[in-house]
Amino acid sequence: MQMPSHSIDQAPARPVDIAIIGGGLVGASLACALAPLIHRHRLEVAVIEAAPLPQAGDGDWQPSFDARASAIAQGSRLHFEQLGLWEGMAREAEPIRRIHISERGRLGATRLAAGELSVEALGYVLPNAWMGRVLHRRLAELPLAWHCPARVESMAPGERGYRLALSDGQCLEAGLTVLADGGRSGLKERLGIDSRATPYDQVALIANLEVSRPHGGTAYERFTPQGPLALLPLTGGRMELVWTHAVGSEAETLALSDSDFLWRLQRAFGDRAGRFRRVGQRHSYPLSLITARETVRPGLAVLGNAAHALHPVAGQGFNLALRGVMDLVASLEAGLADGQSPGATTVLGDFEARRDRDRHNVIRFSDGLVRLFGIDHPLLSHARAAGLIGLNLVGPLRRALARRAMGLER
Ligand SMILES: Cc1cc2nc3c(=O)[nH]c(=O)nc-3n(C[C@H](O)[C@H](O)[C@H](O)COP(=O)(O)OP(=O)(O)OC[C@H]3O[C@@H](n4cnc5c(N)ncnc54)[C@H](O)[C@@H]3O)c2cc1C
Repeated sequence: MQMPSHSIDQAPARPVDIAIIGGGLVGASLACALAPLIHRHRLEVAVIEAAPLPQAGDGDWQPSFDARASAIAQGSRLHFEQLGLWEGMAREAEPIRRIHISERGRLGATRLAAGELSVEALGYVLPNAWMGRVLHRRLAELPLAWHCPARVESMAPGERGYRLALSDGQCLEAGLTVLADGGRSGLKERLGIDSRATPYDQVALIANLEVSRPHGGTAYERFTPQGPLALLPLTGGRMELVWTHAVGSEAETLALSDSDFLWRLQRAFGDRAGRFRRVGQRHSYPLSLITARETVRPGLAVLGNAAHALHPVAGQGFNLALRGVMDLVASLEAGLADGQSPGATTVLGDFEARRDRDRHNVIRFSDGLVRLFGIDHPLLSHARAAGLIGLNLVGPLRRALARRAMGLER
């Protein structure tokens, strides 16, 4: 239900300290991370999520917690531990113990093992749907106002922050509004926040696979003439396929019968991981680099995909966003201790100062890897391959790969 534009100024609004628009991976993580502040400062927090949450066994996907699996960096694991969420997440987290990188048409392969870097795992692969379940289970325990399914139809600056008009007819006025809508709602544009958008002309095709051989925690990366192809280890011996196609060419692959799909995949990837036996539902995601030109305004912060949508080549989107979540909470904590309100310019300025460099570096690194795909140079293949499977998961490894990609290291 679209509210008439004048009603947002006039309708009685319920005051809240923080309103989070979007209860996806990022919005839900933020709500969980706010728990100590909610208790300590008696903050009133509202989360507004447009899509109903899927029930166990439900065929419907919530947009954020869909069929994808995400490569989760060690740093993100530590953040989840800090939030008391890792124990729940760990049940479905498959450690990445080694990476095997190869390029079709080239001899040899590169192998990276967690042991060589003295880490237990190079990262973890977690189904988004499972992360969603763990996050939302925690949210249900917190004293916050949960509006779901309800969408924020419009928002406008008010006296004490932003006023939000919800599709269920309610109106909120929030000291701090966090836009974590994945860039899906059009609200950012209506607020006049421009984004820089660069389509990659690529589509990521993802699916779950059953493979004849145990994966043993190995993530595979293979460059093919059609685009890079990654296989990530999942629990239960399954693997997650991320197969990049040029825009337009994915439709045919999506339409193939299961057996033809498996055959084509086997031909593209080879036998290294064993025989591909079964494939689950296939999904495709068009890929673009989208960066918001503003991420804070008085009373407003933009997080997650709303702030930066990246190519999954480096598996960094959510890892970067989670660091943003933790930094926002740290800025809020410092500001509240200092008697500031959550939407205060000083609080958001502090947040922006914490984020700026990390965001800039990750976007540049991730975009740089995508650009490297087109360059046929043996020294570059390792860097782009490791990035693709999300293995800028380890700081030193990322730095080494980035240095190599920049031609600083051989
Ligand atoms: C193929 C693929 C693979 C990826 N792999 C990785 C990986 O391995 N590692 C990694 O770190 N990242 C990865 N990413 C990136 C990661 O998926 C995103 O960073 C993450 O999903 C962003 O979450 P979000 O909560 O910001 O946005 P979303 O997931 O889009 O969630 C936004 C939420 O807001 C809700 N919403 C929208 N509009 C409104 C409204 N008006 N009112 C209320 N609610 C609203 C939506 O219903 C949704 O639930 C991958 C991305 C892709 C496409």
